[in-house]
Amino acid sequence: MLSYRHSFHAGNFADVLKHTVATSIFNYMLKKDKPLCYLDTHSGCGAYSFQSNEAQKTKEFNNGIFPLWGREDLPVPVARYMEQVVEFNAQTKLAHYPGSPSIALQMLRDIDRLFLFELHPNEFTNMRENFSGNRQIKMAKSDGLQGLIANMPPKERRGFILIDPSYEIKTEYQEVVDTLIQAHKRFATGTYALWYPVVKRAAIDQMESELVNSGIKNIQLFELGIRADSAELGMTSSGMIVINPPWTLQQEMQESLPFLAKTLGQDGQGFYRIKTLVKE
Ligand code: SAM
Repeated sequence: MLSYRHSFHAGNFADVLKHTVATSIFNYMLKKDKPLCYLDTHSGCGAYSFQSNEAQKTKEFNNGIFPLWGREDLPVPVARYMEQVVEFNAQTKLAHYPGSPSIALQMLRDIDRLFLFELHPNEFTNMRENFSGNRQIKMAKSDGLQGLIANMPPKERRGFILIDPSYEIKTEYQEVVDTLIQAHKRFATGTYALWYPVVKRAAIDQMESELVNSGIKNIQLFELGIRADSAELGMTSSGMIVINPPWTLQQEMQESLPFLAKTLGQDGQGFYRIKTLVKE
């Protein structure tokens, strides 16, 4: 049984990194006047209140979106992400956090399509309520990794795929790599962004090395840590591995990650990694 609920974590430093990267990718891909398919393998429900019992219990947003809210010195890519959060809050105070499907929906155009997968029954019900009646969106209460394989290549031949698992099961680290390799065989030109948490660094080292040896070209990695790696403290860092990134993405993250590491880092331990895992 799945127990992870994103409402405990929405707007934390991992969401800041994930959604800054995602908005940069959307910003680039939506410049072209051709339909785009967005597929979110692990969607969550799409909207979170900072007043919920779950959010109030962890208050992880205090290490994420809250220290950025209202600042006028944000690097351009972070400011672009913040625009999405501001829009979701109807330009007023920061009360809600948009999940990845809401950010996507706000940015996408009428010509684009969204596929959302969510396996948790309650999260799926909430997601359906949040997005019902929108004919651009197809929602499925089923496994997102299988859904990804089944839907590649998209008919648009242009796609952005976000893979954002909860990593509750140890085998997920291997499953996401296997799925990426299979999906890439079906749709080699798609842009894929895989989110990962750093709880045990060895699991991420292994994932990186498997991707490096997969034969897939053009892979970059962007990571933001708020504390040095630690075996005791849970998630101290998280990253996005992007296959076929926009050519602008690395420069945009060079502008953003030093600022985020400095602003969100704890006890001066914030750090970032920007790495080309495989060249074009
Ligand atoms: N992508 C969301 C965002 O950025 O706002 C957050 C997603 S959260 C990290 C992961 C979600 O995946 C949880 O809601 C969980 O219930 C769901 N989930 C777990 N395993 C799944 C699977 N095999 N297929 C689809 N969804 C799954």
